[in-house]
Amino acid sequence: MNFHIFSIFPDFFKEYFKFGILSRAVENRVVNIHLYNLRDYSEDKRLGVDDRIAGGGKGMLFKAPILQKAVRNVRENFRNCKVIYLTPQGKVFNNRMAKELSGYENILLICGRYEGIDGRFVEKEVDLEISIGDYVLTGGELPALVLIDAICRFVGDTVKSQALKEESFENDLLEYEHYTVPNEWEGIKIPEVLRSGNHKAIKEYRFYSSLKKTYFNRIDLLERFSVSYLKDKLEVVDFKNLKKQNKILKEYLFNIQKIAKEWRYVRRNSDSE
Ligand code: SAM
Repeated sequence: MNFHIFSIFPDFFKEYFKFGILSRAVENRVVNIHLYNLRDYSEDKRLGVDDRIAGGGKGMLFKAPILQKAVRNVRENFRNCKVIYLTPQGKVFNNRMAKELSGYENILLICGRYEGIDGRFVEKEVDLEISIGDYVLTGGELPALVLIDAICRFVGDTVKSQALKEESFENDLLEYEHYTVPNEWEGIKIPEVLRSGNHKAIKEYRFYSSLKKTYFNRIDLLERFSVSYLKDKLEVVDFKNLKKQNKILKEYLFNIQKIAKEWRYVRRNSDSE
């Protein structure tokens, strides 16, 4: 898979791919990083890429013809291209989008600076506008790295597929809490069940821990999860299965009630501090 990055600071990217899992993916050519300096496409002597905003206003914008020249050059030489402009005005990036984008052979990433880029370029050449969150950064370079990192995890065997299945956001839940040695630290012990060797109990505990994390930190995800979980589990509505379904529903509601109680307890204590 190829990533083509368009920026006025291409050197920014050089260090990142020398480390960790991504360095191996680059070394093995599972992932190729192509850097383009937008100034190389400028036609003026001072290598300018920007100009003032039509209608007035503070700041500058990258010019459409320069961006178009840079992008078309790649489009002409590579197949199956997806052109992405990193912008706070885009759709908010998530794991599902990362997985989907990993199916492209060539991803082109436009990193803006200043006030951004000419809207006509977006209209004509950009397939997708992506934001990495509801805040404004000074440039699109960090967002580009965020996308590449998240997408690469789904490319080839960069990360083992079993490991991916258990990560946060798979099935709309956050991952359960993890622990390592020592068994006791600062008076806190690793939950006994994790040392019991009882795989069924460990699985149940982890599911509960996952629900709890999601309830406390991302109630929006839990709502989505609950609908699909219960729909899957409670699909068959004949009498024979009713008892089984009732048990599943009860267990699930019991877990949620238990977590809600803990939540209220935490809130009460933090309010009184
Ligand atoms: N004027 C723009 C606005 O208010 O929407 C912000 C421009 S920002 C200062 C400069 C560049 O940083 C943008 O063109 C974009 O490439 C990048 N950028 C800033 N925040 C971003 C975010 N949350 N997600 C993706 N890219 C972002």
